[in-house]
Amino acid sequence: MSGLTFFSKVPALKKWIPLFLVLLFFSLWFPWNNRDSGSVHSSTQLAMGTLVTVSTWGTGDVDEGKKVARIFERIRQVEAIASRQDANSPVYRINHSPQTKHVAPPEALVTIIEKGLEIRQQSQGAFDPGLASLLDLWGFTHGVPEKGALPEQNDLSAWLEKRNQFPEYGIHLNKDPNGTVTLHLDGDVFALDLGAIAKGYALDQAMATMKQSGIQDGLIIGGGDMIIAGSKGGKPWRIGIQHPRDRDKVMAQVEVMGDMALATSGDYERFFMVNGERQHHILDSKTGKPSRSGLISVSIQANEAMVADALSTAVFVLGMEKGKALIEQLDGVEGMLVQENGERWKSPQFKGQWLDEQKND
Ligand code: AMP
Ligand code: MG
Repeated sequence: MSGLTFFSKVPALKKWIPLFLVLLFFSLWFPWNNRDSGSVHSSTQLAMGTLVTVSTWGTGDVDEGKKVARIFERIRQVEAIASRQDANSPVYRINHSPQTKHVAPPEALVTIIEKGLEIRQQSQGAFDPGLASLLDLWGFTHGVPEKGALPEQNDLSAWLEKRNQFPEYGIHLNKDPNGTVTLHLDGDVFALDLGAIAKGYALDQAMATMKQSGIQDGLIIGGGDMIIAGSKGGKPWRIGIQHPRDRDKVMAQVEVMGDMALATSGDYERFFMVNGERQHHILDSKTGKPSRSGLISVSIQANEAMVADALSTAVFVLGMEKGKALIEQLDGVEGMLVQENGERWKSPQFKGQWLDEQKND
């Protein structure tokens, strides 16, 4: 693991400390009351540039270690396809190839790009799976730049100018009649960065692997994304959402039983400061700069982690009004949005409560 990769892990680690504390608290607390019926078993590894935790509920199965290892293996398989840092990955090869046409990319990549293009369309370009070269200009190639600096204005203008040469979006998937898929990337300005969607897909795959192994009650968390199944011995899983301006504070609590995915995007995850201004990792392709929509934290609840992951980023860039409209328009999608000025909103079916509104019980 390179030092650069390490930098990408630190903010994610900081981000999830409150979450781990919440999980730890309930995990430790619950067996006290239910000594014979089971407990939470958790295992954490570094994967996809962040900490991934697999938690299962049960009475302890002799094969559990092997089952959990298979879950992590599945996550690493997706990472090996979708990483743009790993020189052996298909995404790296596509981004660094002189060719613009790529025949039969791996199926997982097709699924991720297809969903990414759909969400790009639904969000009118706010979600953009082709921002790798812009992210590089800002130094967000591997996590947070060690010494953050604004890009040269000339470089930003050149990027925007190149983009504007393609009034139609420059990433296309085509399926020919015999089923072969071809991926086209126009010019060198469209390069894949799947950082806002691939982790969600990996978690969906990880949960499918968990269920196939016979574990029906579990929770998998990776950075700001999570996928949940079943319950904690008949009680809901409880998850804390971090306060966007106080990393030691939990802003909201979500209680869930059954299948659900949850993703949070925030401007506090990866950033550096220049002249008192936060330069963060969620970019707006219309300006070429970190999104200044007014939102600082967006949590999305959906059936699939891939969808929740991409939509949390999309809504972040869209801002409060357009973001709300998109959430309301999509079936099975709920959200919790926080603005810098303190205004906040959550959709009626969102399974979470602001902590300052909870009654003490
Ligand atoms: P997330 O933390 O899920 O919101 O994802 C943020 C990551 O997605 C960044 O680190 C980039 O790799 C990538 N990204 C940044 N801006 C966008 C955008 N507007 N659309 C899609 N992906 C983005
Ligand atoms: Mg996301």
